[in-house]
Amino acid sequence: MKYSAPRGAKDILPHESALWQSLDEKFRKIFTLFNYKEIRTPIFEMTELFSRSIGESTDIVKKEMYTFLDRKGRSLTLRPEGTAPVVRACLENNLIAPDQITKLYYFGPMFRYERPQAGRQRQFHQAGAEVFGSSDPLLDVEMIILNLQLFNAIGLKNIEVDINSVGDQKCQPNYRAAIQRYFAEVIGQMCEDCQERYRLNPLRILDCKEEKCQPFIEKAPASVETLCDECARHFEKVIEYLKLRNINFRINNRLVRGLDYYTKTTFEIVSSLLGAQKAVSGGGRYDDLVEEFGGNSTPAVGFAIGIERVIEILKTHNPQPTTQSGLLLFIATIGEEAKRIGFDLVMKARENGIAAEMDYLGKSLKAQMKLADKTLAKYVYIIGEDELNKGAGILKHMGSSEQKEVKFTELFNNLTP
Ligand SMILES: [Zn+2]
Ligand SMILES: [Zn+2]
Repeated sequence: MKYSAPRGAKDILPHESALWQSLDEKFRKIFTLFNYKEIRTPIFEMTELFSRSIGESTDIVKKEMYTFLDRKGRSLTLRPEGTAPVVRACLENNLIAPDQITKLYYFGPMFRYERPQAGRQRQFHQAGAEVFGSSDPLLDVEMIILNLQLFNAIGLKNIEVDINSVGDQKCQPNYRAAIQRYFAEVIGQMCEDCQERYRLNPLRILDCKEEKCQPFIEKAPASVETLCDECARHFEKVIEYLKLRNINFRINNRLVRGLDYYTKTTFEIVSSLLGAQKAVSGGGRYDDLVEEFGGNSTPAVGFAIGIERVIEILKTHNPQPTTQSGLLLFIATIGEEAKRIGFDLVMKARENGIAAEMDYLGKSLKAQMKLADKTLAKYVYIIGEDELNKGAGILKHMGSSEQKEVKFTELFNNLTP
């Protein structure tokens, strides 16, 4: 019997995990600098949580969710994104209160049934942040800067910021109407998906990736033209503060993002290093979602980074130095009695915070030395019969090949990391 990972699911192998760990560590440091705290939500949720918030007419809900019935017939879904679960968790655990800012970040796997391709898997990972409690445009800008600083920390270059404003409850209907009027003329020449989108939610047409639809989409009205005064002022402030911080950005009128809950600011960070320009991260404001979930009206803004895409760029453009094993000590032994003492020393070393290893395959001394070399251990400590009698082994520094006799009891004092 031979098994393989399900299509679109990938193992992160030992030689790759160091990169994931370093990314995770650097991200956590930056999130902490910005005063965000981690939240970990379940990998599955009730299906309605996603279908209502992301939008029934979106591609995610219509064809990409991993939805199943549990043994009691409840419909559950593997989370396709992180925002809805975070909002749910905040309301359930009273993490959001009036006159209070709540800043959260998350890191974990998401699931979408899409055609697998480079940088896109069916199980993929996102790091994201959400901030609740203020409609201040400064927070929109903080989100963008946080995002850039995360990328800066891992050495991701050639990135650009695209921003747009999609308006709010007051002015979004005007935009929808403008879009509907515009596409009414041309929809017959567009793809089948777009025709369905036109019936269900015309804004979704702007997400279409079909080649033949692009000329029509490019000429579509821009959402910034239909903004109400409040939304226009908010957008102006965002731009003003981005300029204040010398952030390069461009206004992208097509940026409505593939989710229904966005209001006012939407943004994407795109990398020109992925061949065609592709978003490595995206987010925006969602001032109505908390209320839609049954909470008090609470403005919010967030983003999510696609980790696989980031890793793909880092692997191609920033080759990592070969990772050291971090092993300080390898103990090689000859004979049963030496092995007993060696095992005791390996365990004591680990108790003392020294990364150590030994042979468990009964290899010859020569083979053990080879193994020590392969594990990149800094020191090898050899215990044979002579050494047993003396209560001391031979300590060899693998880099310089220098060796000296060191008592069992003195071993740890003679190791320098
Ligand atoms: Zn189309
Ligand atoms: Zn508005």
